[in-house]
Amino acid sequence: ASPPALDDRLLERLRGAVRGEIVEPDDPEYDEARKVYNAMIDRRPALVVRAADAGDVMATVDFARDQGLALAVRGGGHGVAGHGTCDDGVVLDLGAMRGVRVDPVARTARVEGGCTWADVNHATHAFGLATTGGIVSTTGVGGLTTGGGMGYLDRRYGLACDNLLSVDLVTADGSFVTCTDDQDAAGNTDLLWAVRGGGGNFGVVTSFLYRLHPVADVLGGPTFYPLDGEVMRRYRELIAESDGTLGALLVVGLGPPLPFLPERWHGRPLCGVVVCWTGPEEEDDRVRARLAGLGPVLGQHVARMPYPVINTLFDDLVPPGLHHYWKGAFSYGLPDGVVDTLVEYGATTPSIQSVTVVFPVDGACHRVRPEDTAFSYRDADYSIALSPTLTTRRECEDRKDWVRAYLKALRPHCAEGGYVNFMDADDHDRVGANYRGNLDRLTDLKRRYDPGNLFRLNHNITP
Ligand code: FAD
Repeated sequence: ASPPALDDRLLERLRGAVRGEIVEPDDPEYDEARKVYNAMIDRRPALVVRAADAGDVMATVDFARDQGLALAVRGGGHGVAGHGTCDDGVVLDLGAMRGVRVDPVARTARVEGGCTWADVNHATHAFGLATTGGIVSTTGVGGLTTGGGMGYLDRRYGLACDNLLSVDLVTADGSFVTCTDDQDAAGNTDLLWAVRGGGGNFGVVTSFLYRLHPVADVLGGPTFYPLDGEVMRRYRELIAESDGTLGALLVVGLGPPLPFLPERWHGRPLCGVVVCWTGPEEEDDRVRARLAGLGPVLGQHVARMPYPVINTLFDDLVPPGLHHYWKGAFSYGLPDGVVDTLVEYGATTPSIQSVTVVFPVDGACHRVRPEDTAFSYRDADYSIALSPTLTTRRECEDRKDWVRAYLKALRPHCAEGGYVNFMDADDHDRVGANYRGNLDRLTDLKRRYDPGNLFRLNHNITP
């Protein structure tokens, strides 16, 4: 079906107001402009506005609202639920807003709303600084931070949203507001609270201000073991015994075709631990010895590397254009029921790209109280991401039941909610469970700042 006719007068006004590109369906670039990371999502917006600055964002928000059109806000485009695009509405693509300005004295970075973690890590590494971000460099800061934001550094420095000092936000009425923690200076503290985990529900963040930490080179990389619950139980002990200087993801899936993993393990079920040790280099050998003690090592590539590099290790495994369908769960302490389920479903992982990733979210994440930010799961120890990730739509459709059964098997041993950024579009009924005691406050704020639910293409908090 063709998109609805747009109001010519409003469209002309938008063209006059916007410095960035406006891509329409008859434009040769349209097919490229409407694409998002997850190839399962195939939508045809009426317009894609590639905003150049906050002015363009304000004009586009006004246009979509006045036209009564759906508005999809796209940061890095990685949201697997497909909220970064829509049918017949307006896509506000922030991908051209990629500036990063580091203040090495204050140890902060001012980051535009369309940046990816590659942009941020590159800019901050020049100063020997970093902040918690995602483990794949092409992921956007926008969706990741507003949903919470887990990564190698979260045990030491908190979630991405915990390092957020301030945002510039365009709200549903088109106003531009700066939100800070400053109670005295009309800091819009309530909006900053909501953006720290409440997703894209409250407006478009045109720029984020992050706290940075002295992280330059790290000891990082994967170690692979047989798919065995004993390895996972030892990993669990390692996490319980170590402090935040050790970032360490547990991965479960099929052996990737990497040169340091013997060929007979390629494509066979196994598990692995990907470390990011930010402690002193003199202790590297101790960390390697701990990894060797988790079980029989099938292959290992653990070396000193710049922090930006560790966040690219998965990039080639999961390039844009694959077909994804995600589920998420929070676990308290990785009990045996979770371990057994990881082993059982790990054995039937449908492809090398379908990696189950277990992020520890203890340490500094626990030092923030549930009510201090919208992100409420401050008692969970691990956040688990599950996905069949496949080359074709058909294969992915066929494996949806696999991941649903996987989540169902995990559920009795896990918390009720799951991380919104690991949820798919059909998980709407779990959004409330994710926010728990913060849901009422979020709903009140939504009523106040977006009563018409203009920002509804997200894991929606309905006003
Ligand atoms: P988009 O699809 O562009 O945005 C998703 C939603 O976020 C939008 O609909 C909008 O509601 C909101 N949004 C985006 N930008 C803005 C903005 N500037 N202002 C307001 N709202 C905005 N999550 C982790 O926590 N840690 C990880 O290590 C991690 N790794 C991942 C790896 C891969 C390969 C993928 C696909 C996802 C990963 N995720 C991870 C999940 C990730 O956090 C979400 O997919 C997130 O939504 C991606 O953000 P984005 O800006 O790229 O996505």
